[in-house]
Amino acid sequence: MTSLLGTLAHSITVQPGTYGVDTIKQGQTLRIVDVEGGQVADFISMKHNDPTEYLDCAYTNMVNDRWRWLQGSRIVSNHLNPLWTITDDKTGVHFTGGGFCSNDARKKFLNPKDETKGCRDCLEEALAEYGIEPHFLQSVSCFNVFMNLEYLPNGSWQAKEPVTKAGDYIELRAEMDLLWAVSVCIWPFVSDGSPSPLRFEIYNPL
Ligand SMILES: [Zn+2]
Repeated sequence: MTSLLGTLAHSITVQPGTYGVDTIKQGQTLRIVDVEGGQVADFISMKHNDPTEYLDCAYTNMVNDRWRWLQGSRIVSNHLNPLWTITDDKTGVHFTGGGFCSNDARKKFLNPKDETKGCRDCLEEALAEYGIEPHFLQSVSCFNVFMNLEYLPNGSWQAKEPVTKAGDYIELRAEMDLLWAVSVCIWPFVSDGSPSPLRFEIYNPL
């Protein structure tokens, strides 16, 4: 399959409440597709074979002078090196404040007896597949793809339902060899109430 952005190398579909993890080479593009619409992902990445250099939302906001990233925005690491460029984005609505849902958070905010894994727990398992210790998972590294959170003028914030429709996507071109991982979030207030899968398509450049 060929598109304007290149040739599809492979794709991974990740079900809600589970994770996906993979590597990507410099120049390849990752397209994240909201298959049914209304779904949020906790997405992380780090330099391949070096978990000490990771996606950093705070520095990316600083470099771009904005917290809602755009097509053309560079996503940078904690050392300010470009990791990704956003090459297409159907909605432009994502959250870049960092932080994951977790079983700890589910116990605190939802049900003290809840044993369900959150995104942080899933991502720790994802990194373990590559022999990476949990302490390398940084809150500031979480790019909340498709999450619709608004900062309000009175200083509060408000989580809203995602605006994504079925088939909407964001495309990220890798600027170095990377490891990426994702947890497809089932936190009740950030998706549209019916968690659904996301598809991750990796394209080789033309
Ligand atoms: Zn989550």
